[in-house]
Amino acid sequence: MTNPQPARSFHGLGIAPRLLEQIARLGFSEPTPIQQQAIPPAIDGKDVVGIAQTGTGKTLAFGIPTIQRLAQVKGRALIVLPTRELAQQVDEALLRVGRAIGLRTAVLIGGASMYGQIKQLTRSPHLVIATPGRLIDHLEQKRIRLGDIRILVLDEADRMLDMGFAPQLRRILAAVPPPAERQTMLFSATIPDAIMQIARNQMRLPVRIEVARSGTAAETVAQEVFVVPKQDKTRLLEKILLQTRGSVLVFMRTKHTAKRLTRLVKAMGHTAAELHANRTLSQRRAALDGFKQGIYRVLVATDIAARGIDVTGIELVVNYDLPSVAEAYVHRIGRTGRAGQVGKAISFVMPDQQRDLRQIERLIRMTLKVSRLPELPPARPKPAFEPQGRPRRSSFSPQSRGGYAGSFRQPQRTARFGRNRHRRRGRLHQRH
Ligand code: ADP
Ligand code: MG
Repeated sequence: MTNPQPARSFHGLGIAPRLLEQIARLGFSEPTPIQQQAIPPAIDGKDVVGIAQTGTGKTLAFGIPTIQRLAQVKGRALIVLPTRELAQQVDEALLRVGRAIGLRTAVLIGGASMYGQIKQLTRSPHLVIATPGRLIDHLEQKRIRLGDIRILVLDEADRMLDMGFAPQLRRILAAVPPPAERQTMLFSATIPDAIMQIARNQMRLPVRIEVARSGTAAETVAQEVFVVPKQDKTRLLEKILLQTRGSVLVFMRTKHTAKRLTRLVKAMGHTAAELHANRTLSQRRAALDGFKQGIYRVLVATDIAARGIDVTGIELVVNYDLPSVAEAYVHRIGRTGRAGQVGKAISFVMPDQQRDLRQIERLIRMTLKVSRLPELPPARPKPAFEPQGRPRRSSFSPQSRGGYAGSFRQPQRTARFGRNRHRRRGRLHQRH
């Protein structure tokens, strides 16, 4: 059900005056389409499935009704989502609206101290924001009970209900009251039919709001594809980075390749950080914060960063590797072009990945423009590191000799010495 009428303001959606005040203070004058359509039924206590493109304000579409209803229902709310970074971001977004009216939250995520989280729980938070693994840890240790959850939100709902999280979600759903005794809200830019079938058992006849069909990519993102052999990917990225001035988010399929590519990008002379599951929580936070602040122009990440992360002003998303599932494509490129801004996404497709490309095109219902491969900088000879094991980072320019390997295989071939050396440098770097 879509409403062609553009919304004028947040008034008339059933939002309480005190909350309207806070929303106005944030500088939001007009609700986005998903906010306009989802807030009224959600405030009425109905179950809601909300599908809208990336970057269109889904957080407040469930956040505002959740905060408002917490004042009316006896009990608490639980928001479950896939990553630590998203948990922290949603917490910040909701506190911006709710703090002034006394909202207390607890954020339960992996990698952070249990002690700090237990302390948050003793302050009887109204709202718990959690990733599944850590929430289950707390459940098992009986640090938290979910019997009084009256509002359950699954952000990035299709990811939460897919096979990867299914066993954990089952446990959580067994600990909260049954569907009839709670309000359930699911939000995402992609909810495949198969997932919707599963979700139905967990809801009471939900109101389905589909601002754009599931899988619709953000309209503000210009998409481009290069068909490129594996061995030329790095040099193509090098060329693209030289042509881009702003922040670039690069997606890799594995954490190991993310780590290696980060090293190569640094050797090209760019500031870069890595975000993947082999990093500690504080390293992950430093990478994302540094990227937001412009300390690092390039962030190399796995799909951990594909969903939800809201960094305004990312200029370009590069799919160095195509994602393993088509839905992830929509989420990845949705890290740019947020809140109506323009953005760009470039995907590297290897010659034998045409089928994957077709799958993505079917999902987004668009044919992607395949661009001609530009002339690439010459492959760089070894060594990846100077004899002393010091990567030549700052001296890199298209004219400069050597400095980085130019392909993925090279750094692997460097001696152990070189790698350890790099690790030491990495640690040193963080302390500064
Ligand atoms: P989604 O979850 O749909 O990907 P987010 O909730 O992360 O999107 O919101 C994307 C951005 O839009 C955020 O920076 C948020 O502050 C901003 N935003 C949300 N609602 C509005 C609004 N009504 N008007 C302007 N900007 C908004
Ligand atoms: Mg979101």
